[in-house]
Amino acid sequence: MKTIGLLGGMSWESTALYYQSINRGIAKRLGGLSSAKIVMTSVNFAEVATLQRAGDWTGLTERLTSHAQALESIGAQAILICTNTMHKVAIDVQAALSIPLLHIVEPTVTAIQAAGLTKVGLLGTQFTMAQPFLKDKYAVRGVTCLVPNAETQAEVHRIIFEELCQGVITDASRYALASACAALAQAGAQGVILGCTELTLSLKPQHVPMPLFDTTDLHAQAAVDFALS
Ligand code: GLU
Repeated sequence: MKTIGLLGGMSWESTALYYQSINRGIAKRLGGLSSAKIVMTSVNFAEVATLQRAGDWTGLTERLTSHAQALESIGAQAILICTNTMHKVAIDVQAALSIPLLHIVEPTVTAIQAAGLTKVGLLGTQFTMAQPFLKDKYAVRGVTCLVPNAETQAEVHRIIFEELCQGVITDASRYALASACAALAQAGAQGVILGCTELTLSLKPQHVPMPLFDTTDLHAQAAVDFALS
């Protein structure tokens, strides 16, 4: 089994899901007491969020690169950045490594295509929804992403940072997220990407009528596939 490197803490609420999901995936495939070989580094998310707000993506690249290199030096054979937003710097982090960075978009595209869809909604942080770094990557792979209007983007972003990343899950916010999905469907989305690794804490398939693509679980299962390849 190969060793997975998790670059986590963004936030730790979703990194905990990755840890559980990867271990459960390995146990399901290998049985018995089997569990994943994982090395992990976990940042202080308050510091990362401050740099994000300041637009200091160079500083964030340096920070994530040094964490990823540390993981490689202690035996990681592939790296996962456990957040959609920080994939903004994924190309630069990958360039500093000699092991693969398993990009969060790849397994998500595979799942969307397996469902026969080409146009989906994208919910995530404002960085993810308003900037092109993930939408363009989906587009290159033949998946068009629709995003909410500016007001809804602001509300989804607020829910992520002020609630979900702090472990707060409320019915009101779940309703707001489901309403955002409904508006995206109205605009032509055939499904919705939960393009922030905390959204799955709140919104589950039973809450909305359209298919949801849970990037946290899809990314974690890509790690399981890699570990057993
Ligand atoms: N975990 C979130 C994401 O998937 C947000 C935290 C961050 O800004 O990195 O985008």
